[in-house]
Order: sequence, then structure tokens, then C-alpha cells
Amino acid sequence: MSLSTTIETPAGKYEQPLGLFINNEWVKGAEGKTFETINPSNEKVITSVHEATEKDVDIAVKAARAAFEGVWHTVTPSERGRKLTKLADLFEQHIETLASIESLDNGKSLTMAKVDVTNAAGCLRYYGGWADKIHGQTIDTNPETLSYTRHEPIGVCGQIIPWNFPLLMWSWKIGPAVASGNTVVMKTAEQTPLSALYACKLIVEAGFPPGVINMLSGFGRTAGAALSSHMDIDKIAFTGSTMVGRSIMQAAAKSNLKKVTLELGGKSPNIVFDDADIDNAISWANFGIFFNHGQCCCAGSRLLVQEGIYDKFVARFKERAAANKLGDPFAADTFQGPQVSQLQFDRIMEYINHGKNEGATVALGGDRHGKEGYFIQPTVFTDVTHDMKIAQEEIFGPVITVQKFKDEADAIKIGNSTSYGLAAAVHTKNVNTAIRVSNALKAGTVWINSYNLISYQAPFGGFKTSGLGRELGSYALENYTQVKTVHYRLGDALF
Ligand code: ADP
Repeated sequence: MSLSTTIETPAGKYEQPLGLFINNEWVKGAEGKTFETINPSNEKVITSVHEATEKDVDIAVKAARAAFEGVWHTVTPSERGRKLTKLADLFEQHIETLASIESLDNGKSLTMAKVDVTNAAGCLRYYGGWADKIHGQTIDTNPETLSYTRHEPIGVCGQIIPWNFPLLMWSWKIGPAVASGNTVVMKTAEQTPLSALYACKLIVEAGFPPGVINMLSGFGRTAGAALSSHMDIDKIAFTGSTMVGRSIMQAAAKSNLKKVTLELGGKSPNIVFDDADIDNAISWANFGIFFNHGQCCCAGSRLLVQEGIYDKFVARFKERAAANKLGDPFAADTFQGPQVSQLQFDRIMEYINHGKNEGATVALGGDRHGKEGYFIQPTVFTDVTHDMKIAQEEIFGPVITVQKFKDEADAIKIGNSTSYGLAAAVHTKNVNTAIRVSNALKAGTVWINSYNLISYQAPFGGFKTSGLGRELGSYALENYTQVKTVHYRLGDALF
């Protein structure tokens, strides 16, 4: 199979790289394997890409190690920043192509895909700005000693990303790693390999030396597992399910105790008090769960509504959700496209059936949409109790459970009643309620009177089983640097 092909999307033709990207070159996998990537809107094969196995992981790690110990060490922090900024500019110049690949391969609407590309560019530029502002401290230990710290890069970073925001996750991981002087071997999700490979063309154009950023298409159990257990990877960063997160941490512990950061699942409560601005709360509740077809780790998948407004709110929320436009990601008015894959479609339908069998009421949806593609109707479950499986487990689809609560204490109790702690939201006009409840919720992010608004300047990550460490903002730099303390003795020998 060749190393590139011409692909036609409704937005135009482009040249798609298909190889593994190692040392700034496109290569075939060592075992000569390839795999297909599917268009989720029509279930047809888009193309095949070359597949990385353990041997390719090894080759890519060697390239990243050589770059880390060699050329990347000689590049000044300001120059690292300039390259990231140039990459951000290139993302913006190529927004039409990058967004159309994302819509084709992932199924998200073109409008939303453009927002992803814009935010990915913003994130890369933001970390470009940080590259020459990473520094330690001088510490006054005693008059005979000069003590100072250096924030040094960790080394070769393995990064494993999911399929729900392929380019955005690419930028969240590459930005802080490269800004702080590390080199990267990234594995994309097997469902969505295409946009990341196209973005590698831009890496070359931005002037990154060979080996600094390496990109592998491949599967979790082979290439992903090889990354997390590799003896020459110094740090692994993962975004995906909590189950896989556990196995990554185990592999890291069993191999070389590489540093680990995990951004995992969620079952986030979206809490609406009686005194909320109802129109606003309905819009945010709808966006909170149905944005990206519910395929967000921070999705507001549990709607908790106070008893005084419950009936009115649920009726209007159903109307709002029913009005979401489902269909072709390339149509200008589409809000919800297909789920990413047959597997995800099946998993979500299984949860919907489980909810029906558990005794919850399907107030809206509950079925597939259309005959072709992995489309699922926006689905609202009422009569839900918090011990039900659909109220405890991450569904990762356009499915929301609605529960009634009495008062503030009740809202906090139900809000905190899952093993997850990624995000939460509070809707109220009372500032005291908003602050008290957001303080009491065990979640890494709390939105007040909004939902799903993420800024690359502010940290993002989970409490409880939702993860370890923080991505974005200056906090992410802590995950990609290690602190060295230097004591310089100024006086004579003590002993
Ligand atoms: P999902 O179930 O939503 O696809 P996963 O957590 O399985 O989420 O996948 C997220 C990423 O983790 C993907 O890139 C996938 O290939 C990778 N992955 C899956 N299993 C493993 C594993 N055992 N080790 C390392 N990476 C894995």
C-alpha cells in the first residue's frame, strides 16, 4: 500500500498521508500491516493507513530519544516557542482541510470541527508563548550556599489520545510537551487516524527537527500497550476510558515507573436550582450533553433538577433536545452527527436498553436515527434513581438521565454519588448557592450558569477515578518538567 492517497470530501480534494511519521519521514509499519478507517456517516471505508506494532514503537522511541539527547537540546527555548507558534499559524491556514478530515473521519459537524481546529491552534500558540518562560527559583538556604532549581524536561513522552477530539487532544498533548523541551511519540485512536497524520505535514513545515514529534497509527492493545510498558519512555500521558487508564498505570509501574498523567471518564452532574434562569439553563443542559454527540469525557450526563421547577423544566428541555438537527456533518445546520463507530453505537444502544429494563422512562428518543450511519436520537431518561446503571456508568453518547432533588444538601449528595469527578455545573441566580455548591462538588471543573466551556489557559482534569494530573494552563507544564535542585557551596569545606 502506498504512503499517501487523494481523498475527496464534500469540502474538496486533498492529499492524505497514510504512513507512520517517524523522524519527519513517512514509513510503512515494520510488520507491513494496515487497517481501515470508516466514515461513521455512511459506514463505508474511507481509506487504510499503515499500522504500528511493537517494533515501530521501538523505532519511534529511538528516534525521539536521539532527538532529545541531540538536536532538540541545542534548540533554545525561544526557538521552540517560535516553532510552536508557526505550527499554530499553519493550523489556521489549513483550517478548511483539517476540519473536513475531522468531519469525515470522526463524524462531527464541520462547524464544530472548525472550532476544534481554531482551539487547537490557540493551544499550540499558548504553549509556544510558555516555552521561554519556564524557570526555577533561587532559594536562600544559608549564607554559604547558592541553591536553585531548574525545571528540566522529562525526556521521551509517550502520548495516547482518543477519537472524540482528535486534533484538539493532539494539541493539548503536544503543546506542553514540546514547549518544555521533551520529545514525543504519540499514538492516535484507531477510529480516527487521519487528521493527526495530515497535521504531521505541518510539523515538517513548521521546522521541527526530525524525531521531536513522531506519530503512530495503531491499536491500543498492541501499540498503546507497547508505549505504556516501554523501558525508554520517561512519561506517559493518556486520555481515554478509566478502564484503560488503570492498565496504563499498571504497565508504567511494572516497567520503568514512568511518570503518568491520566484524563479519564466522567458522569458529570448538571444541577439546576429553582431560581435558575430557565432559558439559559435549558440551553446549557442541552449543549452540556448533546455537544459532540455526547462523546465528551466531561459531558453533563446527569441532569439534576430541583423539585419546584422539575415538571416545567423537563417538558421544555425535551422540546429543546428534540429540535437538535441530526444528520450529515457537512451540512451547515447540523448540530449532531453520527457516533464514531459501530462499537460505540452498540455500547450506547446497550445502555439505552439497559435503562429501559431498569425501569427508567424514555422521555425522548431511545432509538437509532435513520437507516445508515451510526446516528442515535437525543435520548432523555426520566424516573431515574441514582443506583441505576445508566446513572452511574459513563455512556459516552447522546443520552441524559434526569433526577429530581429537594434542596442544596440533596443536590450535593446526588452530585457526588458516582466514582467519577471530572466536571459539574450549577445553575442558580444566587451567588452564595453557586459558590457553596461548587465548593462542595468533588470535580476538577465546575461551571456556573454554563457548561462545556474549556479554555486552554485554565487547567482541566479529574478528581477521584476521573484522572491524575492536570492538562492545559501552566499546570500542564508541571507534568512535563522535573525539578532539579542544585546546591552550590560558596564557603570552605565543612568536614
Ligand atoms: P474508547 O473505549 O472510548 O475507545 P479507550 O480508552 O479504549 O476509549 O481508547 C482511548 C485510547 O487508548 C485509544 O488511542 C486506544 O487505542 C488506546 N488504548 C486502548 N486500550 C489500550 C491499552 N490497553 N493500552 C494502551 N492504550 C490503549
